[in-house]
Amino acid sequence: MALVVQKYGGSSLADAERIRRVADRIARRVRKGDRVVAVVSAMGDTTDELIALARQVSTEPSARELDVLLHTGEIVSSTLMTMALHDAGVAAVSLTGAQAGIRTDAVYGRARIAGIDTARLEREIVAGRVVIVAGFQGVSEDFDVTTLGRGGSDTTAVALAAALRCERAEIYTDVAGVYTADPRVCPAARPLRDIGYEEMLELATTGARVMHARAVEVGALYGVAILVASTFDEAAPGTLIHEETTMEQANKVRGIAHQPSVAKVTVRGVPDRPGIAAHIFEPLAEAHVSVDTIVQNASEEGLTDLTFTVARDDLDAALRAVGGVQASIGARELASDASLGTVSVVGTGMASAPGYAARMFRTLFDEGINIELISTSDIRITCLVQADRVPGAVRALHAAFALDRE
Ligand code: ASP
Ligand code: MG
Repeated sequence: MALVVQKYGGSSLADAERIRRVADRIARRVRKGDRVVAVVSAMGDTTDELIALARQVSTEPSARELDVLLHTGEIVSSTLMTMALHDAGVAAVSLTGAQAGIRTDAVYGRARIAGIDTARLEREIVAGRVVIVAGFQGVSEDFDVTTLGRGGSDTTAVALAAALRCERAEIYTDVAGVYTADPRVCPAARPLRDIGYEEMLELATTGARVMHARAVEVGALYGVAILVASTFDEAAPGTLIHEETTMEQANKVRGIAHQPSVAKVTVRGVPDRPGIAAHIFEPLAEAHVSVDTIVQNASEEGLTDLTFTVARDDLDAALRAVGGVQASIGARELASDASLGTVSVVGTGMASAPGYAARMFRTLFDEGINIELISTSDIRITCLVQADRVPGAVRALHAAFALDRE
């Protein structure tokens, strides 16, 4: 009897009919002899709708109250799933994140899991019940409800798999796995059979929305392999995220990720002396603005420019944070551009073979796309471009790196 941890995404639970179909899928697994812990997301667009509702009553909803509001979405789906299982003749119980023992820090809206007390979960499992856990949530030391960030149910599932010592977590979604690029933007994209943690992490942090980046990190840290597969197309094999990538190593670029809404902030005329970067980035950290690329230009006559990128939604907070220190550091000007996006090519093979950057830049040049900023890791190259050029860039790079072929 194997214990399996699964996760079902919001689109797989969008209405009562789909909840019954997932319950049926879980019931069949139980009848095969497996014990199941299933994490659920909120139904359909519930989370977006709750956020919109909060914005109708408040210009800047309190982060604490917002977390309490949002975590209800997952509670609705977990209870409905449990009831559907009862009707399918399966013993089941729903648990909120707190009841499942998921403890987090107190950073509302993007809390990190600090530990999981599995005692209650294990009691339910031993009692022979399927446990349906409300995803994306936990509880702080002060018993405040927290959420793990958008898409955080993936992280709930992988963290539970680690805590329950499962070798694998199964993430079920509305697509057939991890694709070489977003199929909505690039019709030639195809699902990968497997991919390494590192590559998946780079793809997830640079825009591939199929997996929560933190979930991949937790998987890598605890050696939990992650299967990403379709909820309703049970014949499709899905993608295994694991330690080694073996099947498609020959093609050294594994995927293209993109972000459609990125903003760039430039602090101009900053005196080039020690401590300036710290003075700029500390207030950003305090405001919980996560900064992606940072570039400091070579200084001229003791002055330099500092440029960084943030998610477009974070631009106002970033400008407020940096605006607050602009005078004290003696910066001349604060400029921003909110109409940008990124496109990234990712693959472990890039670390050892030259020429990938040249091919990427040549491809963008041939498309007439201007590169605003470049950043790299060992296994990734990212270019910042105008947002309206992102889809074309993805398609051109997908073809240039022959990703449409096995
Ligand atoms: N319901 C949350 C969201 O939409 C968490 C999740 O789906 O994983 O972001
Ligand atoms: Mg969701």
